[in-house]
Amino acid sequence: MLHYYTLLAKKHQYFLFFLTNSIKIPTFAKSFASLKKEVSNYFTPTINNTKNLNHMKISHIEHIGIAVPDLEKAIAYYETVLGLKCYKKEVVEDQKVTTAFIKVGDTKIELLEATSPESTIAKFIEKNGGRGGMHHIAFAVEDGVANALAESEEKGVKLIDKAPRGGADGLQIAFLHPKSTEAVLTELCEDPNK
Ligand code: ZN
Repeated sequence: MLHYYTLLAKKHQYFLFFLTNSIKIPTFAKSFASLKKEVSNYFTPTINNTKNLNHMKISHIEHIGIAVPDLEKAIAYYETVLGLKCYKKEVVEDQKVTTAFIKVGDTKIELLEATSPESTIAKFIEKNGGRGGMHHIAFAVEDGVANALAESEEKGVKLIDKAPRGGADGLQIAFLHPKSTEAVLTELCEDPNK
């Protein structure tokens, strides 16, 4: 009888050995980070670049959007330290922000201060521990934001805006979701007066 139990225990042991080795501890041994990455990849849209080989025509970086907790303090930095000039301030009700523009060559810097805690800028700053920082990059498209959006959607890009809307500085703008743009919030814009 003892012999039987010994055999059974051994068999069981082999079974466990077989089990752990054959499964190779597939999920349990994975770090939380790698699991998180797998989950996030699962939900990240895949860019389909085979369907439509057209590319939107981007002429230049229209502006770089920087979130700031204190607009006046930020303007003072750009003017007194970098010697640049703020040429315009504008409240954009739709986005619940006050913007200030600084020109550097052909590119603008768009400083954004929230006018409401509901503003995406306020949420961005809150997530960033109360600090501002680089918020988005904006590209000027030559053949229209609507066309660029349609093309992006066809390629599987997740859109924030389904249609162009009015932005600061008289531009028509639309945002692409950072999940599809290598984690950088991306704005497409066109100047309807050009
Ligand atoms: Zn912008």
